[in-house]
Amino acid sequence: AFRALVLDQNDKKVTAEFRNLTTDDLPDGDVLVRVKWSTLNYKDGMILNGLGRLVRTYPHVPGVDFSGEVVSSSEARYKPGDEVVLTGWRVGEAHWGGYGQMARVKADWLVPLPEGLDAAQAMSIGTAGFTSMLAVMALEEQGISPKQDGEVLVTGAAGGVGSVAVSILSALGYRVAASTGRAETHAYLRDLGATTIIDRNELTDTSKPLLAERWIGAIDSVGSTTLAHVLSEMKYHGVVAACGLAGGADLPGTVIPFLLRGVRLIGIDSVMCPYATRIRAWERLAKELPIDQLNAATTKVALRDVMPWGEKILKGQIKGRLLIDVQDC
Ligand code: NAP
Repeated sequence: AFRALVLDQNDKKVTAEFRNLTTDDLPDGDVLVRVKWSTLNYKDGMILNGLGRLVRTYPHVPGVDFSGEVVSSSEARYKPGDEVVLTGWRVGEAHWGGYGQMARVKADWLVPLPEGLDAAQAMSIGTAGFTSMLAVMALEEQGISPKQDGEVLVTGAAGGVGSVAVSILSALGYRVAASTGRAETHAYLRDLGATTIIDRNELTDTSKPLLAERWIGAIDSVGSTTLAHVLSEMKYHGVVAACGLAGGADLPGTVIPFLLRGVRLIGIDSVMCPYATRIRAWERLAKELPIDQLNAATTKVALRDVMPWGEKILKGQIKGRLLIDVQDC
């Protein structure tokens, strides 16, 4: 038997309970994994609180990402003892996820633990950090480089996606402006490499289609009025990578920044991201993300204590990344 957090739905209300399960309870799949670490992402917060209609079938084991060790595999690619990482593929939403000490998944959803990272570090990065790297790669693909004159803006900077984005960009030599609503995170963001700190209240005016040109690039995890405002402040041919909706899913702006400044808005999706891109992003994370900064951005929480943190992340009260110790439950 192993322990898992199981969500149930009664009268449209989602409840959570730790239970003993056996591998017979797990869904079908090619690879059985002993889960060591998971994380708490914004989406996990929504799922733990029954929001967003992300989970359609209960009982459900949440956890949108995990790292661990292969116990058995009917697929030749993996053998017992291999260390693996999973993010995306709607695991933890449409399929049982990482908040159980065992998981059975498709081999196609796994990647080998990248060389240079241990299983805990891989989940300190997790879906949020993986997404940050995809966003950085998108800026690069659009020609944004540290040689250009100007700053890259990161919104929601003290959150998971934002913190890792600040750290990677600064390590690559970009000048980074970090926008946050929390004054108590300013020193933390400077330690991660931000050179300018912006109060997020300065990024909400959407009354004008164009404002003074400020940013060569931007990584946005907030959406809504923040993203609309940021688009109006991009420099000529600036690039925005849209990653999230922590401030709302709407986009109340105009097309003027696209038409008059050639601004490019690139969507970032980590969930269905193809295998080759995943491998490339993980290799780069292993090499380019400063580990001391990753440690500074990480808070370790036992799986048994995860529920209150799920409410906190929805209120934007998490600093950096939450690493979940799945064996402590
Ligand atoms: P997180 O740790 O909660 O970070 C979100 C940050 O956004 C908060 O820390 C806060 O930053 C800021 N924020 C929260 N509410 C806000 C509001 N009402 N107005 C303005 N700013 C607000 O969450 P995360 O795990 O990093 O995820 C961030 C977003 O990215 C979420 O929407 C998530 O769903 C999305 N995401 C998308 C993908 C993808 O594949 N596209 C993957 C992972 C995550 P400050 O305190 O610094 O202001």
